[in-house]
Amino acid sequence: MQPKSWVNLTATLLLGAVLALQPAVMLAQPKLPKPGFNFFSKDQDIKLGQEAAAQVDREMPIVHNAEMEAWLKKLAEPLISQPEAGGYPFQFKWVNDDNINAFALPGGPVYMNTGLLKHADDEAQVVGVLAHEISHVALRHGTNQASKANLFSLPAMIGGAMLGDNSLLGQLGQLGIGLGLNSVLLKYSRGAESQADQLGAFLMHRAGYNPMEMANFFEKLEAITGNQKGVAAWFSSHPNPGNRVKNVQKEILSFDKRSYTRDTGQFARMKALAAKLPPPPKQPQQGAAGQASTAQIPPVSELEPPSSRAKGYQSTMYTLSYPENWQVSQGEQGSVSILPKYGVVDTGNGGSAIGYGTIITENSNNSSQRIEEVASVIAQGVVKNNPGIQVTEEPRRVMVGGKRTMLYVMNGPSAFQGQRETVVLAVIERSATDTVSLIFVAPERDFARFEPTFKNMLNSTRMK
Ligand SMILES: [Zn+2]
Repeated sequence: MQPKSWVNLTATLLLGAVLALQPAVMLAQPKLPKPGFNFFSKDQDIKLGQEAAAQVDREMPIVHNAEMEAWLKKLAEPLISQPEAGGYPFQFKWVNDDNINAFALPGGPVYMNTGLLKHADDEAQVVGVLAHEISHVALRHGTNQASKANLFSLPAMIGGAMLGDNSLLGQLGQLGIGLGLNSVLLKYSRGAESQADQLGAFLMHRAGYNPMEMANFFEKLEAITGNQKGVAAWFSSHPNPGNRVKNVQKEILSFDKRSYTRDTGQFARMKALAAKLPPPPKQPQQGAAGQASTAQIPPVSELEPPSSRAKGYQSTMYTLSYPENWQVSQGEQGSVSILPKYGVVDTGNGGSAIGYGTIITENSNNSSQRIEEVASVIAQGVVKNNPGIQVTEEPRRVMVGGKRTMLYVMNGPSAFQGQRETVVLAVIERSATDTVSLIFVAPERDFARFEPTFKNMLNSTRMK
């Protein structure tokens, strides 16, 4: 069966939201969360983190005190040596800043403000913050969020960035993703916070530190918010998921019995050293603002029509056919873009976005959910994360290759300057846990011209 009317369909967009549905995944005995959907590879996390760290090191007052640095490394060592920490090349630095905050960059660099040390009651509380930050790295929350927020533009951009020696951070800057206060890389969702607490508790447990001290410290910070302005920084990037103490208590029940005796005995000394640091210099604050594209929409005469000759594409999950004169580029984690050559829009300074074409993504959920729910979450994620995009019609149920499919139609700003685009999202149910999503994109002006091609692609899609 095919969709009755394409135009009434709806399209949503794909991926991101599915992940939001994924809670913890079973590993061994304790249920630990695992990384969600991501366009980036682990190596790209590391590359991006190192580029970002170079910027942070230039712009923030890093503490150069051998004793304090060595202690931080010593605290982190038993945490990062757990396989659940992901084997990233972690690095730990103190930042001379009285605000209570810490942050982790993708792939390993972790920064701890000295304000944390000044407010902690014991070593285990400092370790708790470290374990929490390490968990954000291991769970790849930064690039997961960036992936979910930039469904259209990232696959092509990342593919392009990997071809040359381009800076990933520079590329992301074109999407407005930088290291500023509200960066999608650093400002976590409550779901991500819960996960970081969960995995952090486990890492502490394995390392021999009482996981309750992490929850206790966060609760303590919560209690002083309002009284002490320095705490606001922590909660603006690590929003309180609620019930932290209870949740960690529950986690501990699933751990093996262990006594928590690890302690370097140097906590008081470190606090004294931190207190003696010179006052932090006034801090410059950056934030890579997104640049509006100045790319012009091509004249209609320059739009080479999609070939009527079809080529086949297949992944492990599905097959489909597409116009012979369009090109396939592989993204991460089963995402693929199939575009005409004018489909990639140069947004300036090496950045790119998709103006015409199709993005296909595979998603697996840990638990089975109704296709309507999965599709709805995906659609909401797209709307939330793509400023200006709106669902314009009620979602439609259709069948594609005998599989239940939800279709959303959306409208929003195009990658071309001053243009609007139509976006159709089809979420096809492959199995109880797997979906394949296709996003079709074209400027509003040209959507009707591409609609037959998009329709043929959708109707040719078969699950394997
Ligand atoms: Zn956090």
